Amino acid sequence: MRAAVCHGAKDLRVERLTERALAPDEVLVKVAFGGICGSDMHYFHRGAVGDFALREPMVLGHEISGTVAAWGDRVTGLVVGQKAALDPSLACRKCRYCIGGRSNLCLDMRFLGSAGGYPHVQGGFAQTLVLRADQVIPVPQATDLLKLSIAEPLSVALHAVRRAGDLMGRRVIVTGSGPIGLLTAQAAVRAGASFVLSTDVEDAPLAVAREKIGVDATVNVRTDPDGLAAYEADDLRFDVAVEASGSAFALNSLFDVVRRGGKIVQLGMLPPGPAAIPVNRLQTTEIEFVGAFRAHDEFAQAVQMIVDNKVDVTPILSGTYRLDDAVEAFEKAGDRTQVVKLHLDMREEELA
Ligand code: ZN
Repeated sequence: MRAAVCHGAKDLRVERLTERALAPDEVLVKVAFGGICGSDMHYFHRGAVGDFALREPMVLGHEISGTVAAWGDRVTGLVVGQKAALDPSLACRKCRYCIGGRSNLCLDMRFLGSAGGYPHVQGGFAQTLVLRADQVIPVPQATDLLKLSIAEPLSVALHAVRRAGDLMGRRVIVTGSGPIGLLTAQAAVRAGASFVLSTDVEDAPLAVAREKIGVDATVNVRTDPDGLAAYEADDLRFDVAVEASGSAFALNSLFDVVRRGGKIVQLGMLPPGPAAIPVNRLQTTEIEFVGAFRAHDEFAQAVQMIVDNKVDVTPILSGTYRLDDAVEAFEKAGDRTQVVKLHLDMREEELA
C-alpha cells in the first residue's frame, strides 16, 4: 500500500509500505479520505508540532474515514465494505484517566500520526491501516465518507465547548478561525450562545464564519488591531473565550475582554516553551484558565451528528487531492486566503 510519509521538514514522500499483520482484536481498513490538519502542516513545515519532534519517518494524518476490509479472530459484527468512522485515539483503557472517563488524558495514548511517543504512531494518510476494533465505528452505508472524516476535528471542537461549560445565553469569543476555530464557533452557536465573535488574521475564514457558520461578529486583528477594544466595557465583555489560534498574543488579548469570573479555554497549541500570561489579572479577576486537549466520547457524538446530518461541515471542505499529489496538497493547504481544509483521497490510488 502507499502512504504519505514525512521524513522531516519539507520532506514528504508518497512511498510504498508493507501492511503489518492483524492481531486478534484488530481491523484492517481501507482509508477513503484524510483531512490535512494544522498539526500535519507543522510536521510538514517544521518537522515538529508543539513539543513533539519527528525522530523517524512517520505517516501523517489522523482525520480519516474508510471501509472495513478484514479483521482478527476476536472481532465480530463487521462486514467487508462496511463504511466506518476511524477514531485516531488508541487509549490504553487501563490507566486512571481512561477508567475515569477522560481517555484523552491517557498516560499511554497512541494517537495516529503523532510523534508524541517513540516509536511514533504511523498515521492515516495511507491506503490501508490496522486499528484496534474499538477505533472502527460502523456507520450507515449512505454516509458521506468525506464529511465523516470531519468527525475528529468536530470532536475536538465539541470537547472544547464541553470544557467551556454551559454556553446557553452566554457571550463567546473564539480567537482563531482555522477549521477547529470555525467548528468551535459553530458548536457555540448550536449550544445557544447569545453572541459569538470570531477573530483571525485573514479575512477569508472570517467571511466563512459570518456567512456559513452564523457567528454574530468578526474581527480581523491584523488589519483592525483595535477591533476588540469595543468589548472592553464591562457589559460587553465575554463570558467565555476559546483560544483556538495557538498565538500567545491572542491569548493575552483575551484577558482584556473576558469578564471577571469568566473562563478562557486554551485549545490552540502554542510554540514550544513557556508563554507569558498576565497572572495578576488572572488572580484579581478570578478568570478560570483551562486546557482542552483532543477529545474522548465526543468522537462518537461527532460521528452521530454527521451521520444524522445535524451539523453542516461543508464550510470546512475546500477541496480534495489524490494521495500521489500529497506534497502539492500540503503546499496549498497553508494558503489561508483560499483554503479552510484540504483532503487527500486515498481511494483514487487504488483505482489507478
Ligand atoms: Zn489510559
